[in-house]
Amino acid sequence: MHSFRADLHMHTVLSPCGDLSMSPRGIVAECLAKGVAIIGVTDHNTTRQCRIVTEVAREKGLFVLPGVEMTTREEVHLLAYFPSLDVADDFQRWLDTHLQVVENKPEFFGYQVVVDRHEQVVYQEDRLLIAALDADIYTSAQAVRDHGGLLIPAHVGKGKNSLFSQLGIMPEGLEVDALEVSMADGQARVARRYPAVTGCTFVTGSDAHYVEDIASVTTLFSMERPDFYEIQMALAGENGRGVIP
Ligand SMILES: [Zn+2]
Ligand SMILES: [Zn+2]
Repeated sequence: MHSFRADLHMHTVLSPCGDLSMSPRGIVAECLAKGVAIIGVTDHNTTRQCRIVTEVAREKGLFVLPGVEMTTREEVHLLAYFPSLDVADDFQRWLDTHLQVVENKPEFFGYQVVVDRHEQVVYQEDRLLIAALDADIYTSAQAVRDHGGLLIPAHVGKGKNSLFSQLGIMPEGLEVDALEVSMADGQARVARRYPAVTGCTFVTGSDAHYVEDIASVTTLFSMERPDFYEIQMALAGENGRGVIP
């Protein structure tokens, strides 16, 4: 087994709150400088920047999990990751159907653009991506499952947009692959307040909106190689793979 440092939660220029420095080129350069081997690209309610980040990263040996940070109807943030870019594109169609139509006001919320490897804008999203989906947490989770994806409720220790801040409990029957915390000691804090999380796998992600915040906290995986199925096994603690505390 080998160990791989991962930061599975970050926002690109496509998220209205993502800084312009979070371009494919900017993200990849920062990850290489910081020794990160795996990243998750998780813009709000969209997967549209995943492909270009993956293409730029692949040339440099950085592995990308194409993903999204969904906002459910209850305003819970859920991270989802997909086995391939094609599946992420397919999931985009589901997102397009379920994102509530609220017009973005770039001067107020921020620009929502896909940029290419040369930092040229190739697409502008006009719908506000930080609006909620019209799907509740169970429907959203099922859609991820139907696409063979991984489901990880985001920043569960936070007082806003988290499973516990919005619902107060671990929803019955909700199957998750892990829970994410944003601070190094987040797991211990959450476990003290919510004993129901006992036995869950935890990952730690930066939720970076600026390149300097990438890998401010990370998750260390022990597995054979960086790919979706190895990460899935590591989260489940199967076949000798795991998350190193
Ligand atoms: Zn969030
Ligand atoms: Zn986020």
